[in-house]
Amino acid sequence: MTGSNVAGTARNSDEVRVDALVVGAGFGGLYMIHRLREAGFSVQGIDRAGDVGGTWYWNRYPGARCDIPSLMYCYSWSEELQREWRWSEKYATQPEILAYAEFVADRFDLRRSYQFDTVVTAATFDEASGDWRVETDRGQIFRARWLVMATGCLSVPRGADLPGSDRFRGLSLVTGEWPHEPVDFKGKRVAVIGTGSSAIQSIPLIAKDAEKVLVFQRTPNFSLPALNCPLTDEEVQMFREAFPAYRQALLSGDPGIELPPADWEPTDDELQQLVQLLWNGGGLVSTVQIPNLTRSERINDAASDFVRGKIREIVKDPVLADKLTPRGFPIATKRACVDTDYYETYNRDNVDLIDLNETPIIEITETGVKTSAGVHEADIIVYALGFDAMTGALTRIDIRGRGGERLRDRWKAGPGTYLGMAINGFPNMFTVTGPGSPSVLMNVITAAEHHVDFIFEALSRARAEGVMLIEARPDAQDDWVAHCNAEAEKTLFPRAASWYMGANVPGKPRVFLPYVGEGYKKRIDREAAEGYPGFVRENAVTDEPASLEQVAKAS
Ligand code: NAP
Repeated sequence: MTGSNVAGTARNSDEVRVDALVVGAGFGGLYMIHRLREAGFSVQGIDRAGDVGGTWYWNRYPGARCDIPSLMYCYSWSEELQREWRWSEKYATQPEILAYAEFVADRFDLRRSYQFDTVVTAATFDEASGDWRVETDRGQIFRARWLVMATGCLSVPRGADLPGSDRFRGLSLVTGEWPHEPVDFKGKRVAVIGTGSSAIQSIPLIAKDAEKVLVFQRTPNFSLPALNCPLTDEEVQMFREAFPAYRQALLSGDPGIELPPADWEPTDDELQQLVQLLWNGGGLVSTVQIPNLTRSERINDAASDFVRGKIREIVKDPVLADKLTPRGFPIATKRACVDTDYYETYNRDNVDLIDLNETPIIEITETGVKTSAGVHEADIIVYALGFDAMTGALTRIDIRGRGGERLRDRWKAGPGTYLGMAINGFPNMFTVTGPGSPSVLMNVITAAEHHVDFIFEALSRARAEGVMLIEARPDAQDDWVAHCNAEAEKTLFPRAASWYMGANVPGKPRVFLPYVGEGYKKRIDREAAEGYPGFVRENAVTDEPASLEQVAKAS
């Protein structure tokens, strides 16, 4: 350890050595930097963005908001932050969430540990030293004992990548890489391709300004009303008072509500009352309030039918309503969208829908979107095609572990991790909200906090005990992967062609990416309390992967 928390000491002219290198300046990375630096580790943060904020730095499209309440969509580790920051609306807008990330960075002076506008291109585990050698697109080389990939679950957007996209002479926009300057839609014909959360949030606002909006839909999604509103002082105060108990519940992994048993079945009347929550409660939280929604076909069918009925009620044109009605996958098995006036927007004269199942896109032309029915002229094309979720940010870096093995090769048939945080064969590297952890299925900021706390504790103990090398045991990882898959199989999630399943990226293996079982926080707490039985921890660096005999000895 260098013992200094000033980023980097030069070892030779072109290498900077730190204890820990953290990739990402989103909520996971910022907190990781803070914790490590406070404890005296020397740290270096790197992000390809120009500033902090992670996904909220990039997703500046109109209407971008969080889909769980702002009072919860924030850090829980600092009471000061809770006191000093006041959210203005039930669901904060992207500018407000970004301002919060900037406020945190200022409050804890985090920017001084970051290098922005920098892409990590490669990371190689050096078996002789046990360090990671990290390269950037600026030609720099960092050496770090510990490498923390806080690269985010939804940080690699699919761009303007349809056939012919580069030929379009109008303005091409990607929701996940939206320009910083305001876009003027007034008097413009706008084509929006995609109908996931990003499109569903932006379409109502674009439609208010544009002359014409044409939505190109491949799969209709279930969307629930946000019921957004300003937060009153009383609500903010109530939450501040409840904060210590809330934080305690988060720390113990307690869901905060009593969950019925997995085989619980409501009566028909109970079920009808229950599904009303989707509309009366609004937001994603309402899906969590319906027990076994993603486990029981009967409960899910009732909820799906209820929302389908609402779409028919709202959209006046029955043909359009029918096209907008999701079928063929259970509600919430693709992430439900949360909107303000999405379905209502289709009652406007300037909004229309192209059903790509009837007339598929052939190509993008110089003047618009060509489907099998002809060219739809447009001045602006908005690509809302989603992300290479959960694995994309890791596999696009040339990460090489023991024996030069590439992570992207290892994960060819699907990602394998131990607890979503470590990978056998890639010692001393940790992933924040990695595949195989609840991440996107819970409040992702809280999920990141849990991981950062775990990783911080593991590194602090390693430092205290002279441990130089930490590596997930192969058998522990295999068991965890099997457990993740078994838990997913108990649910309805595998029935949808969703980004949770990797289905939205051509060629990506179909594996359920997050962990959907219960008791995850308790599981990782136990791992730490029992001295990391699923990891091999070495006081000297070995250039051999942990053999099963070593593993048996270590345990
Ligand atoms: P998404 O949910 O993956 O939606 C992508 C859309 O593009 C889908 O409708 C997809 O259709 C369509 N698409 C993809 N390739 C296409 C092609 N070649 N031709 C035509 N259509 C194509 O992506 P997203 O909307 O960016 O949202 C991703 C996730 O980000 C969300 O689920 C959510 O977790 C997060 N997010 C959250 C919020 C929020 O409310 N806080 C807002 C935005 C995003 P298919 O369904 O047929 O593949």
